This record gives sequence, structure tokens and C-alpha cells, in this order.
Amino acid sequence: MKLLIKNCTVLTMAKKGEMLENAYVAIEDGNIVQVGQGESDTGWVADRVIDGAGVVCMPGLVNTHTHAAMSLLRSYADDLPLMEWLQEKIWPLEAKLTTDHVYNGTKLAALEMIKSGTTCFADQYFFMSDVGKAVEEAGMRAVLARGMIGLNQNADLALAESEEFITEWNGAAKGRITAVMGPHAPYTCPPPYMEKVLKLAEKLNVGIHIHLAETKSEVNQIRDEYQKTPIELVSDQGVLDFPTIAAHCVHLTDSDIDILKAKNVGVAHNPESNMKLASGIAPINKLLQAGINVGIGTDGAASNNNLDMIEEMRSAALLQKVATEDPTVMDAYQVLQMATVGGAKVLNLDDKIGTVEVGKRADLILIDLNKPHLQPKHKVYANIVYAAIASDVDTVIVDGEVVMESREVKTLDEAEVIEGANSAVKELVD
Ligand SMILES: [Zn+2]
Repeated sequence: MKLLIKNCTVLTMAKKGEMLENAYVAIEDGNIVQVGQGESDTGWVADRVIDGAGVVCMPGLVNTHTHAAMSLLRSYADDLPLMEWLQEKIWPLEAKLTTDHVYNGTKLAALEMIKSGTTCFADQYFFMSDVGKAVEEAGMRAVLARGMIGLNQNADLALAESEEFITEWNGAAKGRITAVMGPHAPYTCPPPYMEKVLKLAEKLNVGIHIHLAETKSEVNQIRDEYQKTPIELVSDQGVLDFPTIAAHCVHLTDSDIDILKAKNVGVAHNPESNMKLASGIAPINKLLQAGINVGIGTDGAASNNNLDMIEEMRSAALLQKVATEDPTVMDAYQVLQMATVGGAKVLNLDDKIGTVEVGKRADLILIDLNKPHLQPKHKVYANIVYAAIASDVDTVIVDGEVVMESREVKTLDEAEVIEGANSAVKELVD
């Protein structure tokens, strides 16, 4: 299959500020084979042409941390502190979830993500084969982890399920799915359990997706128990010697930041979830200055309450500016970089996705600029970060396949997905 997008503006995200006017992107078997201005090679004939007049073509957004199926719990419990929210509301309801709930919830999340320009996401949950099935059907790319908690009776089952899931699903959906290990957090995975997790990660040769230093109470609990920060603890345990996606990293010491840098940890910053749960403000500006790779995530819809990465970019930028009282920090281009190539790097996928460049897989979005709130076009990337909304995303391509065109999702039946999620949740709370 040869697909050509022509007459568009290409924001490559490969070189700072690089934007090609009147440009084209040629895609063959899912690979970007040509990017340039004017006309594509005359010897290369496309099977399909998308006219990109008035649109910007850029890398798809990468959501580096979420729990997709939690979209079923959207607005189920709000305005509570993290521990109370988790222990009294979320965990009891999650204990009742079946494979069918997780499948339907993930499809709802996938639909929302596609419609807001996300092409790839990192997920940590359970019943992961059902998550994998939903991802495969939706045509998205994902890094999936079976979330593991070492404190309850399911601890060993979670390990066994992780191994089974990784063995079966790593590289599935034509290579769009990567499977990793998902120890939930240091406060839910005591050292003997973490040791088992790491042994398995080593055996299966996969990375780690973990929540770290999300709240002050977590940091205090770990300090009381181990006389270390959460970052020091997992570093000493050897967790960070694996390719690690570290979600949150809100409460860090300077030496924690040194460790994250030395271990080349990718940080998933979730500003809206951190704000909503009043967890605090992650020192992202400091992390970026230290040269740490940071991506953006939404966390689950129950603590956000949407999976809209365009909104999340704006929140990330505004939050750092107000926290540092410096409007120059985290400029629009840097934020866009975090949501695309930076996120791809956090997920260890930057050899495949994250930029519009020859040799990468075609995970692309087309944003319609013919909107009053996106004109004039002084700086297209600043318009996208500070002015765009989810519904400006017109077309979404993942791995060279068109999954949404003119806002119509091709891979999922929108009405059916919404109905499926609602009937699943009705049964859950009844
Ligand atoms: Zn989370």
C-alpha cells in the first residue's frame, strides 16, 4: 500500500522548528519513504492520495502513562485525596471488573484517544489480553504492562499473568504492541516482590513501567520504612537498570534527579492528574535542564478526567510557568516535542516513531488549521499547543493505516463502542 499526503504543512519534529510548507509525505508499507517540498518523486505512484491543503501533518501524540480501561470510572469519584480515592473508591470498584469491562473500557479510551490525535499510549492495568485485543482492533500502537501489586493475594498470579501476557503479546498486532513489566509502585511492591519482578523482567528481556514519587505521603512512607527516597530505593533495587518509564516523579530531591539522569530514566509527566489529586507539581523544568527525557501522559480518565493530549500539553506548559513564575520555561515547541518524539523516547520507541522522517513508521496526524481559533498562523506549533482543541484533529494514521479520516474513525464503530462501555458500566455499578 502506497499512501501520499500532499499539499500540506509538515511539522517534522526532527529539527527545532522545522516546518515544510507545500510539502508531501510518501508512505509505503507503513514506512515513511519520502518527505519533501513540492511534488513527490515522479517514479513513485501512490495507491491513495490525501490532499492536505490547509492541514498540518505532524507525528501522532504519544501518551506516556494511562490506564485506558479506567475510562469506565470517569467521574465515578472526584475531588478526593489520592489514597482515599484509591482505597475507598477506585480499588473496590476495580476488584469487580471483568475481562469484558476492561475490553469495553479500553475501546472507549482508544476511540477518545484517536479522536484527539493520540496514536500511541503506555498502559498499566489488568486483563491485559483484553487491552491488547482492543488496541489491535483500534489499530493503535501501545506499550502494555500488567499492573502488579505485591501486597494482596493476587501478587503471584500477577507475576504469572505478566509472563504469559508478555510471551504472547510482545510484538503482536504487526509489531504495534510492546509488552513490559508493570510493578505498580514501591509502596505497593515490597522488596522481596520487586526482586521477583526484576528476575522476570531480566528473563523476558523487557522494560519496566512504574509509578514513582507521586505524592508526599508515598515519599514519607518509603522514608520511614527504608530511610531512602522512592527513587533511591528502586535505584538500589536495580529497577532503573532496566529501560524504565517512571510515571509522575513529582517529589524529587536533587540527588533523585541525578539518579534519574545517570540511569537514563524516561519520566511520564501527568500534570492534570497531579493537579486534580493535588499530588503536587513535578519539577519538569529542572528535569529538562538536567537533560532528562520527559514525556507527557494523561494518567487514567478517573483522575483527569479525559485522555486529551492536546489539552494535557497546554496544562503542562502553563503549570510549569506558574510554578516557576517564569513565562519562558517550557516553550510551545519544547512541549510539543515532549508529546511526540520525547514521549517516543520515554517508551523506547524513538527508532520507530516520534518524527516525520524517512525511515520512521508512519504514525501521523493531520490537524485542520482552517478554524478561527487557529488563524493567523504566526507560529503553527504555538497554535497547536496553546489554541488547538481535540476536534481540530482531522485524520489519524497509525503504522501507515488510516484509522480516522475527516473525523470518522475507520477501525471502531463509534456508536457501538459508546453503547458497549455504557452497558458494561451499568452492570458494574448496579
Ligand atoms: Zn497511573
